[in-house]
Amino acid sequence: MSNKYYVTTAIYYTNAPPHIGHAYEIIAADVIARFHRLLGEDVFFLTGTDEHGIKVEKTAAKQGKSPQAFVDEISERFQTTWRDVLNVDYSRFVRTTEPDHYQVVQAMWNMLMEKGDIYKSSYTGLYCSGCETFCLPKDLTPEGLCPNHLTAPEPVEEENYFFRLSAYKTKLIDYYEAHPDFIQPLFRRNEVINQLDTLEDISVSRAKRSVGWGIPVPQDPDQVVYVWIDALSNYLTGIGWGKDSAVFEKFWPCDVHVIGKDILRFHAIYWPAMLMAAGLPLPETLLVHGFINVAETKISKSLGNVISPQDLMARFELENADPIRYYMMTSTGFGQDGNYTDDEFKNKVNADLANNLGNLLNRTLNMVIKYCDGEVLAVGAEKNNLLSGEDLAQIQTHYEGFRFNEAAQVIMEGVDRANKYVHASEPWTLHKEGKTTELERVLYNTLEALRQLSILLMPLVPTLSQQIWEQLGYTQRITQMRWADILDSPLPAGQKIQLGSPILPRLDSEIVGAGKKR
Ligand SMILES: [Zn+2]
Repeated sequence: MSNKYYVTTAIYYTNAPPHIGHAYEIIAADVIARFHRLLGEDVFFLTGTDEHGIKVEKTAAKQGKSPQAFVDEISERFQTTWRDVLNVDYSRFVRTTEPDHYQVVQAMWNMLMEKGDIYKSSYTGLYCSGCETFCLPKDLTPEGLCPNHLTAPEPVEEENYFFRLSAYKTKLIDYYEAHPDFIQPLFRRNEVINQLDTLEDISVSRAKRSVGWGIPVPQDPDQVVYVWIDALSNYLTGIGWGKDSAVFEKFWPCDVHVIGKDILRFHAIYWPAMLMAAGLPLPETLLVHGFINVAETKISKSLGNVISPQDLMARFELENADPIRYYMMTSTGFGQDGNYTDDEFKNKVNADLANNLGNLLNRTLNMVIKYCDGEVLAVGAEKNNLLSGEDLAQIQTHYEGFRFNEAAQVIMEGVDRANKYVHASEPWTLHKEGKTTELERVLYNTLEALRQLSILLMPLVPTLSQQIWEQLGYTQRITQMRWADILDSPLPAGQKIQLGSPILPRLDSEIVGAGKKR
């Protein structure tokens, strides 16, 4: 088995700051990255921002800023939101305005040109400046409007460069058949195969006079590289294509591109065809997620229902973003559209994390202090099935298969069992009756379950896991743990537990009310 893992998000378009819809995708990628680190793999996790194009140009102009100054600001907001607010541990943040990326895009362009897959031709079509793409008449609403923007696309005639996409139809179909897991979930695969019926060559440049903000086409200063070759090549820039061949050779091909359903076509059709043309291996998996709606309504600036991760943190006075991470990853199956409401969020977080997990930790540690002088006793765990080998195998398979909600469910069943075990064993009665050996065994088993659970939960809620870890008396970081440690490294005898404040106070509906009024 290969010991490397390369995971990417789509790069986020810098015409507006990040909201919880963007957060959904990057949290998933972070969970995947953290899980594979836990397996002991060398993980490269790439994210970044897509900074060119007419929308950026227009928004910057509206704000009286240069495009570069504008994208610098927005890109910085993405970086700090991911790193400082959501605790996303990416390896590199790539920006399409970096010099490295210019070189990669131009090198890719030259390769496709030499291959004979790029040619110049004139093009007349209907262009939606919101989508930054030419629309096919069949994709428009009955009124002739862009279905995404509900505005009329403008007729545009231009001399552009084209990529010979149509030449790759058979090769693409062959690839999908040979790699049934390439597009996940499976129902998305059929969507792509249906789109191949009308595969046409695509425009890959725009005249500089219509789109000024972009990477110049090599040897043709009147043209700039059009969005998709620019944006998609970021996955090569991020791991040093043409610059650091050791890193590139190690991590390419990508193990999983995490993308939204709206950009599936570009990743499942354009991107593999470009890579085939460039003679590069194709990614293993496209993991396609749905959208997060707010109260069953699509997030949209015009509807005024855009929520940022910072809004949520403030609304519930959260100390860290783990409740947001947990809710996003477990309230809906990955691939389906998710939904956010204050009540669903509060109920799920309170039930699973504050009550079920938080109480188990708190009551167990309090009993260890009261009955065992705050020390882990050297009794060794008996087989109590709080977490069996079978449970662990299931959790691993769910994480590996991107079924985060199912992984969490098996973990929470373990928390339930531990709570019921404590309840049924009645340590307080054992103490009263002087049954010390039994009492110590019950507490040891429960502490062991907590140790295992904290590692299992780490990809989803890294901060809470670290806090449980510290309360169990460990001084090293929980991120140093590996999957095998779940079974092989039980709590050492004599370790002093460090009872702290509850890891997560119950989320309060009063706070939500106040947040709404603000
Ligand atoms: Zn549009």
